[in-house]
Amino acid sequence: MTQTRHAPVQPSETMGEPTARGRFGEYGGRYAPESLVEACREVDEAFREAWADPGFRGELAELLALHAGRPTPLTPARRLSRELGVRLYLKREDLTHTGSHKINNVLGQALLATRMGRRRLIAETGAGQHGVATATAAALLGLEATVFMGERDIERQELNVFRMRMLGAEVIPVTTGSRTLKDATSQAMRHWVGATGDSHYCIGSVVGPDPYPWMVREFQRVIGEEARAQCAAELAAGVPGYVVACVGGGSNAAGTFAGFADTTARFVGVEADGGAGAARGSLGVLHGCRSLFLQDGDGQIVEAHSIAAGLDYPGVGPEHAHLRDLGRARYDTVTDDEAVGAAVRLARTEGIVPALESAHALAWVIRAAGDGGLPAGATVLMTLSGRGDKDISTLKELL
Ligand SMILES: *Cc1c(COP(=O)(O)O)cnc(C)c1O
Repeated sequence: MTQTRHAPVQPSETMGEPTARGRFGEYGGRYAPESLVEACREVDEAFREAWADPGFRGELAELLALHAGRPTPLTPARRLSRELGVRLYLKREDLTHTGSHKINNVLGQALLATRMGRRRLIAETGAGQHGVATATAAALLGLEATVFMGERDIERQELNVFRMRMLGAEVIPVTTGSRTLKDATSQAMRHWVGATGDSHYCIGSVVGPDPYPWMVREFQRVIGEEARAQCAAELAAGVPGYVVACVGGGSNAAGTFAGFADTTARFVGVEADGGAGAARGSLGVLHGCRSLFLQDGDGQIVEAHSIAAGLDYPGVGPEHAHLRDLGRARYDTVTDDEAVGAAVRLARTEGIVPALESAHALAWVIRAAGDGGLPAGATVLMTLSGRGDKDISTLKELL
């Protein structure tokens, strides 16, 4: 890249396809064993072909409408906006089937797997949200699902484990390392090595080897495209001044940003204080991809910590790292306490209990409206990535 960090960018230069080597700037790539590089190449080829095929697009749009409940509304947060002195609009991914944006991506990948003649989906899951979404899509399309999950997470997320099994998925406990998401991901990738002929590896965010960061962003683009049309109909300016979303790996944010890449809207990604790959990570390679990760002095990946399981990832997708370098998006962090406070505030002003992940984005809006980070009267589009039902027991212990 010849651009320096703070050089102004032409909006249209960003959020296109990665380079031929699967890069966004200096990030991305395929850092995997030879057999997986070949499997990724097949996924890439199949995805390119499918994405250019109106038949595939139409079939996916129908699944999203009839099964997942799209389009989701754009809800003006009227009472909270008055309190904050900004105009806040919520893109309601919490209203999708299974309760978060994850369904957009898994339906896309499940349909692609079917097209590729695969009969099984392999996935990893931390708290179980991506595992449940994968099991749901597999059941809908008549595929098998094998979900790798850390032993510690299995103990903590009993209900989601049951849900996956109820949907017919096989849940495999991972007993290595810290027995959480990072280890489950490594195990799922190793398992895929021996099963590439009949199985598709369904990654849950804009992370992993090329083409996943790009493909998952394209499957999540529906959030941004719907929101763009809804803003055009709803807002006097047609486009919001700010587009805000929480960032774990970064898929709901990337899908939202993509719909506004050619506008002057300012992008803000909000990470958990204990999982701030984009805000505080350094260059590294993990799970097949070069990006920004939390690392110690020896370059070992540091375990992430967040009250929101979906933000508990020690890195960030390569495209976010690139958007950060370009200055096209900024990344900020929010503490557990701020997120819990924001969740309560949304519940009491708008009658919506958000997922704790989404509450991070809202906490940033609340803070920025108070400290000048957002100018008075700013129009803000925020993606409400999921609903808070899964977090009720966590909240109950704190409130
Ligand atoms: C998984 C999850 C996230 C984080 O994932 P991204 O890929 O960063 O979008 C955010 N919100 C909810 C509700 C989730 O389930």
